[in-house]
Amino acid sequence: MDYLVVGSGLFGSVFAHEARKRGKTVKIIEKRDHRGGNVYCDNIENINVHKYGAHIFHTNDKIIWDYVNQFVEFNRFTNSPIALSKNKLYNLPFNMNTFNQLWGVVKPEEAKKIIEQQSAAFRESEPENLEEQAISLVGKDIFECLIKEYTEKQWGRECKDLPAFIIKRLPVRYTFDNNYFKDKFQGIPVGGYNRLIDALLEGIDVELNVDYFSNKEYYDSRADKVLYTGPIDRFFNYCFGKLDYRSLRFENEIIDTDNFQGNAVVNYIDKEFDFTRIIEHKHFEFGEQEKTVITREYPKEYEEGDEYYYPVNDNKNNRLFSKYKNIPIDPGKYIFGGRLAEYKYYDMHQVIASALKLVSDEFS
Ligand code: FAD
Repeated sequence: MDYLVVGSGLFGSVFAHEARKRGKTVKIIEKRDHRGGNVYCDNIENINVHKYGAHIFHTNDKIIWDYVNQFVEFNRFTNSPIALSKNKLYNLPFNMNTFNQLWGVVKPEEAKKIIEQQSAAFRESEPENLEEQAISLVGKDIFECLIKEYTEKQWGRECKDLPAFIIKRLPVRYTFDNNYFKDKFQGIPVGGYNRLIDALLEGIDVELNVDYFSNKEYYDSRADKVLYTGPIDRFFNYCFGKLDYRSLRFENEIIDTDNFQGNAVVNYIDKEFDFTRIIEHKHFEFGEQEKTVITREYPKEYEEGDEYYYPVNDNKNNRLFSKYKNIPIDPGKYIFGGRLAEYKYYDMHQVIASALKLVSDEFS
């Protein structure tokens, strides 16, 4: 066989698809009991439930947009999250709707003036912590109403005790525009993400419930080359220690109503709620099912056995990653790619672009 691909996430699936298209023989092995990695959806009450967290496809790159659209049609979903704070709803990202809800202002000039007044004193010196940084960017009211408690839940620490660099920018829009993303293209695959994965993997042998490391030598012997999309530290048997990740916990609930919150994403700002947001999955696809499925999302420290969600790209972990990356391997035998092997947060469009770059390097 030409290629053994370890992992059936977007990176492995795009590469396998393109390799097969070029006449190569490919097989995928996947540790989980399903294909698609983190974009996989469970079908509950006929609703596509994003099992590993809400996934919204967005890109500015027409090539990537055309690429995914050849496999599946995308709907017109636009991410417009809502925040619930002290029993009042606010539009996100911070824009004229939010400012009107906060202060009753109707003109951009009025909003600018308030933010300017509230942040001025904090812009005179270098912010010493996240709280000062956030206030210097958006003023005290927005910080207290929409940032403080949410951020403290996410990090498990007070904003005053968090470093300023965590928040580099807080986009503020002086237009009535609730579209979270600025990208030209955005949507959800009609029928869900599994359809995208099914189309990519058509005709490709995928063996589920197989851990590459259960018999690495055997799997290595079966192919000329191995594309590995799992965690890089695991590949090298954690010889320098483990890379850190942040995790999440999801709690699903089926509710006997056709519409629980009227929006796909509602952020819960207040500390009295342990979770940070509720996702109502049917709204990603304008679903009209009789029931609904919601997911409460709880931030949590990574513990042994948890899923890896976000890499912690601080200095310590980046240095550790560099050590792994510099271990010499035979490039004629092993290729690494994807979010886990590269220890990098990738959006879906970025991971597809990265897989297509590998395709062009490999087959040019
Ligand atoms: P994965 O999807 O993780 O695939 C890797 C696969 O390898 C997994 O299936 C794993 O089981 C398998 N594997 C690992 N080790 C082994 C082994 N030893 N043997 C066999 N198989 C193995 N992107 C967006 O564009 N929009 C969003 O809204 C968005 N939301 C997100 C929300 C969350 C909470 C997270 C964490 C990510 C989000 N993303 C989003 C990013 C998106 O999930 C990634 O871009 C994408 O899943 C990366 O694909 P991948 O193939 O690199 O990794």
